[in-house]
This record gives sequence, C-alpha cells and structure tokens, in this order.
Amino acid sequence: MTSPAPVLDLAAIRADFPLLGERVNGHPLVYLDSGATSQKPQAVIDAEVAFLTRSNSAVHRGAHTLAAEATELFEDARATVAGFVGAQPEQLVWTSGATAGLNLVAYAIGNASAGRGAPASARFALAPGDEIVVTETEHHANLIPWQELAARTGAVLRHIPVRDDGTLDTDAAATLIGDRTRIVAFPHVSNVLGIVNPVGDLVALAQGVGALTVLDACQSAPHLPLDLPSLGVDLAVFSGHKMLGPYAIGGLYGRSEVLEALPPFLTGGSMITTVTLDEAQYLPPPQRFEAGTQPVSQAIGLAAAVRYLDAAGMAAVHAHEKALEARMGEGLRAIPGIRLLGDATEVERVGLWAFDVAGVHAHDVGQFLDARGVAVRVGHHCAQPLHRRFGLTASVRASAALYNTPEDVDTFLDALSGVRAFFG
Ligand code: PLP
Repeated sequence: MTSPAPVLDLAAIRADFPLLGERVNGHPLVYLDSGATSQKPQAVIDAEVAFLTRSNSAVHRGAHTLAAEATELFEDARATVAGFVGAQPEQLVWTSGATAGLNLVAYAIGNASAGRGAPASARFALAPGDEIVVTETEHHANLIPWQELAARTGAVLRHIPVRDDGTLDTDAAATLIGDRTRIVAFPHVSNVLGIVNPVGDLVALAQGVGALTVLDACQSAPHLPLDLPSLGVDLAVFSGHKMLGPYAIGGLYGRSEVLEALPPFLTGGSMITTVTLDEAQYLPPPQRFEAGTQPVSQAIGLAAAVRYLDAAGMAAVHAHEKALEARMGEGLRAIPGIRLLGDATEVERVGLWAFDVAGVHAHDVGQFLDARGVAVRVGHHCAQPLHRRFGLTASVRASAALYNTPEDVDTFLDALSGVRAFFG
C-alpha cells in the first residue's frame, strides 16, 4: 500500500504570512508574484527582530559574550541552510543574492585566468578561444557576468537554444558542448518558462569534456526538494528573498574541491589569516569568499525560512504548487487570445506561467489585474533574449508559492478573462 501524498494545511500557512491578509485596491490580495520575491512568514520576521533585539553583534571577531553568541547563531544558520540543499556548512558561501553569487564565480574565474590564486586555481584559467556555454533562457544574472568574463579573457560565449515549446534543445547542447567548453552555466528552472531543466543530461555533457557546471537554482530552491550534491553540479546559487527569507542574502554552494581551488573575488577583512603590507594569506572556504561585514540577521532570517519550508515538507510544497500550475495552465489555455510561453507537455514544472495577451500590452494587463487585487509581474523579467526568441518585448507572469490557494488561481483567471473585452 502506498502512503497518501502529503498535503499542506493552507489555512494555517496563510495565517503565518501577515501580508496575505491585506486588501489591495479594495480587494483581498491575490499574490501571484512569488517568482519576483516571496512573502515572508512571521517566523522569519521574528527571527530577524529577535537577533537584532537580543543578540546583535559582529561575528567572527570580538571576545565578548554577545559576539560569541552572534557567531554561533550565524554559523548555525549556515548549517541549517546548507542542510536544506543537501550540503555541508563549509560548502555554503553567504552572498547578497544569486546575482552576487554568479558575479563572485565569474570574477574569481577571471582572477584565476589572470594567474591569481593558488597553483590549483590554474585549472579554472580561461584562454582566448575557450568556450563558456549558457542557455537562451537565462535571467540576465546568469548571462551578463559570463559576457563580461568572456570579454576579459578572450573566451567565446555560446548558447544552447530553446525550442518553440520552451524546452532546451539538448541535441544542440550535445553538439555545442565540446573540447573548448570550460564552463556550462544554466538555470534549474527558467524564471519565465517554469520548466525544470534536465540537469543530469547537461551535467553529463559538461563532465564529459571536463567543464565546470554552474546552476542557477533561484526558481527551484523555493519549490522543489533540492539536493545539490546529488545533482552533480560544481557550483550553484540561490536567492533568500525568493524562498521566504529576507532580502540581501543568498547562497553559493560549491563542491569542496572546487571552492578550495577557486581564488577569491572580493578581498579585505574577514577572509584572511595573515596580512603584511605586501601580501595576504587567505582563509579556506567559505570565509575566503566572505570579505567584509556579514549579513548576520539576514542569514538567521533565511535559516528560519528554510526551517519553515522544511516543516511544511518540500515534497508537499512541490505537489501543491504543481496542482496550482495545472489549474492555472488549463484556465489560461481556455481564455481566447492567450499565448503561453513554454507550453511543453510531459515536462516537470513549478507553479509559474508567463504569457502574452493578444492585442493588449503586458503592462496594461498588469494594471487591470492590480485594480482587482491580483499582483503579477509584467515586463521582460530580466530575460530579454528569451522574450526576443518568442517575438516579444514583454509578457505577464503569474507565479505561485506554497501559500497560494486554488481560489487565488480562480480569481486571477476570472479577472484575466475580462482583459481583452475591457481594452477592446
Ligand atoms: N536567476 C533567476 C532565475 C532569477 O529569477 C533571479 C531573480 O529574479 C535571479 C537569478 C537574481 O536573483 P537575486 O535577486 O538573488 O540577485
């Protein structure tokens, strides 16, 4: 006998998010913009306030009681968040977000390419003609740092195309990833298409040519059970504010031997062992990558967020959001004039749909929905090349999280079905 699928106690969950009880423009808020940033449960707000109220102090310095307590809370938070993605604490570097994590990696590789770092860093060095492979679906955060790295090193940036149905062209990937490929960077889930990419296939192709893999897990970490070591990627980033946590905190995961060999990007206090006026010796990871004052209350808030997600159960979160996604997809397909981006069948998805409404600009759709209390994202979602690929400059994106209900989806669909008549 199989055990029943775990379910979420939605009423209890919604009661934990103070903002979900608000009204917007006279209507109960229907928040479908979690792909941009998630709402925060009271436990996260309380964790930050408790730290700032009772334990605030600088970490990793100072001999006093508060400093020791703050350091312990900060390092406990690291262990908790690392555990959430299946990693060891020393494999998790705090960053200010996914953008910062991806820039850290690209600049560190740039430093290795300029001959900086320990002898082991040479394995990351890029030479003119080496290739960096990304996908056509990237968020700009996983594209522009690689463009810049290519410009600094003479490497060539190539991209895996996306098919009409939103899936990555893995046949093209197999041809593109070759002897000159040194880095393969790709999203676990695109923030526009919502499709879970075939990480295993891409990792196998990259490993086959000895290339480093970098995963953007921003849109998967809040929605799926995630075990980064078992995905086999070398490096991965995720974003605290999208997974119920505070702003200005994120994680960079790295396989231990990769982090150990990578030279630092930012340098200064907190990342050294000894310093003379001429040179400095660096701490091992993760501190080597954490120069300067640390995001302490944010890390503690993010630990509270992942404890919250863990308590809900990521398998249950994923199942719930998949049901919302299916309801949303079905409803959207039934509204005349809607074109879904990435409407592939037989793929795994998160609860996110981006779409175009024939004859109505995305911003007008967004305002129309907002007037009815429904919050969605409009624009290019920091993915201009992907929009261009689909002949658009902007789209509307509705994205769910664990706190959304089927009624939220229905309210959104009801409102949306009046858009074209309104704009006539
Ligand atoms: N990558 C993806 C897929 C995203 O959706 C986002 C945020 O929109 C980012 C990267 C950037 O994340 P952060 O806000 O943490 O810099």
